Amino acid sequence: AAGRGRGDVPEWRSAVQGKAVTYGKLTDLSIQEQRRSLPVFKLRDLFIEAVHKHQFLVAVGDTGSGKTTQLTQYLYEEGFARRGRIGCTQPRRVAATSVAKRVAEEVGCRLGAEVGYTIRYEDCTSPETRIKYCTDGMLIREILMDANLGRYSVIMLDEAHERSLNTDVLFGLLKETCRKRADLKVIVTSATLDAEKFSKYFNNCPIFTIPGRTFPVEVLFSREPETDYLDAAMMTVMQIHMTEPPGDVLLFLTGQEEIDTACEILYERMKALGSMVPELIILPVYSSLPSEMQSRIFEPTPVGARKVVISTNIAETSVTIDGIYYVVDPGFVKQNTYDAKSGLDQLAVTPCSQAQAKQRTGRAGRTGPGKCYRLYTEAAFRNEMLPNSVPEIQRMNLSSMVLQLKAMGINDLIGFDFMDPPSVQTLVASLELLHSLGALDSEGLLTRIGRKMAEFPMSPELSKALLASVEYGCSEEVLTIAAMLSVDGTVFYRPKEKQAAADAKKAKFHQPEGDHLTLLTVYNAWKAARFSNTWCFDNFLQYRRLRSASDIRKQMVGIMDRYKQDIVSCGERNFDPVRRALCAGFFRHTAKRDPQEGYKTLVEGTPVYIHPSSALFNKNPEWVIYHGLVMTTKEYMREVTVVEARWLVEVAPTFFQVADATRISRRKRNERLEPLLSKFEKPNDWRISRVRKPRR
Ligand code: ADP
Ligand code: MG
Repeated sequence: AAGRGRGDVPEWRSAVQGKAVTYGKLTDLSIQEQRRSLPVFKLRDLFIEAVHKHQFLVAVGDTGSGKTTQLTQYLYEEGFARRGRIGCTQPRRVAATSVAKRVAEEVGCRLGAEVGYTIRYEDCTSPETRIKYCTDGMLIREILMDANLGRYSVIMLDEAHERSLNTDVLFGLLKETCRKRADLKVIVTSATLDAEKFSKYFNNCPIFTIPGRTFPVEVLFSREPETDYLDAAMMTVMQIHMTEPPGDVLLFLTGQEEIDTACEILYERMKALGSMVPELIILPVYSSLPSEMQSRIFEPTPVGARKVVISTNIAETSVTIDGIYYVVDPGFVKQNTYDAKSGLDQLAVTPCSQAQAKQRTGRAGRTGPGKCYRLYTEAAFRNEMLPNSVPEIQRMNLSSMVLQLKAMGINDLIGFDFMDPPSVQTLVASLELLHSLGALDSEGLLTRIGRKMAEFPMSPELSKALLASVEYGCSEEVLTIAAMLSVDGTVFYRPKEKQAAADAKKAKFHQPEGDHLTLLTVYNAWKAARFSNTWCFDNFLQYRRLRSASDIRKQMVGIMDRYKQDIVSCGERNFDPVRRALCAGFFRHTAKRDPQEGYKTLVEGTPVYIHPSSALFNKNPEWVIYHGLVMTTKEYMREVTVVEARWLVEVAPTFFQVADATRISRRKRNERLEPLLSKFEKPNDWRISRVRKPRR
């Protein structure tokens, strides 16, 4: 091998504060030496033997021990891929792509050849692909097409401890597939000590343990609770950079927008300090990060500089960055929460669990002894954080999942072999939603339209809107809107120092009907500007996200073609068909202006408000539908569009009906049904009420 041996690597020693720190060792090793130096390498033969002997295997080991990148390669080298592919699932897209890239490099092939990946809206594999990384959602889609997974010989369910909704469902599906296919191997990997539970669930299979290699980490708590964790986090990073010995910093924040803001602020503060201070390389990490940026995270830090990686909880376990000595943990995470009772489904920033906090801390001890700054008090850690995170399946809207399971012919959901079952109430709420969308009949069986809806990799509401648009002759427009809504984050760029200018540009795109048509207008204007980058820059739009919308749109067009759905335009004059189509999917997300203040959702009567970024802010039309809710200081509706109440009755006849006012008792009118009843335009006594639920 041409690579340098461990002994030849020039060691960079820093004597700051009298401490000697060895640095940059691992990154200089040749790839094969790096592979051999991983803790899992010594167990290679034992692992292969265990896979030969058992159908199920749980593999546990600290993050960075080589599970994700090595186990698949060992199986490949031992010929497991001769009869079928080796598949490895990841809960996150960024992990699937970055790991595939790394493994292709280790195998010495082009990405997409022997080693490839598939994520939603992106397939980087070919017929030669033997090792395939994919998101757990994509594997579910493959099971939808082939319940036997005939093209695979081994499936590794990676990061199972994350308990993502899709991985949890895969547990049950694969257990079933394995009953039919004795030759299929399933490996479940986990970073923490949930191993016993996993083993018990998979018929008491053996647990394969990879001993760790970690260093002690000193944990420091805040003395007082922090009022502004973002600011406290910046201060801590700066302080580490100015006073601590070399070593990179990892800061955990909650989401893309927060991370981008933090990067900007930190950059400005560093610039203000002038050129006398050592360089601080600031790198963001989140799911939708473009791939050029992803590779930069793994590049070794130049001597004399320091790197700060600002990441979502992706860096807790899914990606490992070498050289981290300091972790800054504000103790928060952005999570989906769903309340079946109110039907509210939202992303909210919540305290992370104790297990997550410990996992974050551990990230500082991989290369040497480290430090972890927790920006919360020890009392908060003990009293306010849950010991473990609640699995997604118990805190998410399950309608998309239920539709997919129904499309696989799984009708008894309450009897499905879930490791931790979702609440019956949540399942019933999903069934009801799917019934009202016309995806299930009154017996709960999949309808023809439901079958089509299951083919689209998006929420049932959005796929219904798309299918309705074919009927209303405006699928050209709704495709664009659906693609724009599927992009991670907003396409509008609003830098702190130029907010007024950005808002002025954005206002030019605003449409009186609301945000969905505003998104359509933006996309079409960009298209008219020949998809130009400079045009985006001039209009305060994020080029990358628009590109992503156009890629997603192409994929959706592919699915439409495959299922022979016409792509037709309604022209540029009258967008009513578009709004009706949206209504057909999102009628449950209707809100009515409240006489006192803001809006109330029609179905549950929850107070909600139009988001200040909406084209309809301060316009206050009587009836609106919204795409989603965000909870900040109030419950805000994001992406709002004006609708007419009579459309609701037309698009969702099993859900809404024009109420016969004479048949409703005064008490009911005044109490429970009040928010569901409303007078509108003509004829004057039209009212809307919920159709009574059919008996199940
Ligand atoms: P585990 O799955 O057990 O957490 P991995 O297989 O992900 O471990 O990582 C093993 C090693 O490979 C780690 O030291 C990590 O730094 C390195 N590695 C993983 N991905 C990359 C990458 N994209 N670039 C460079 N090194 C990587
Ligand atoms: Mg891993």
